[in-house]
Amino acid sequence: MALRNEILALEEQLNQMLDRLQELRIKVDSMEVQNARLLERLSVENIRSEGLEELTKLYNEGYHICSTYYAQNRNGEECLFCQSFLKENM
Ligand SMILES: [Zn+2]
Repeated sequence: MALRNEILALEEQLNQMLDRLQELRIKVDSMEVQNARLLERLSVENIRSEGLEELTKLYNEGYHICSTYYAQNRNGEECLFCQSFLKENM
């Protein structure tokens, strides 16, 4: 009888561990999803800031970066379109 009780107790423990395992599995799944989202956002941010850096450089070298005159020479003149684009994206 004592042996049977021990088996029952072990079974119960095992079931509790399985439940706990299931909980942990769900938690890990959702953390992985969240992690993937964060990594994606990070790489989008990096690409965006690199692109902005290039455009700022282009503007400082004397070219338009606005959609109206893009890549045309500014001939040393400031451009309000370019400047507002930079201001919006800083
Ligand atoms: Zn411009």
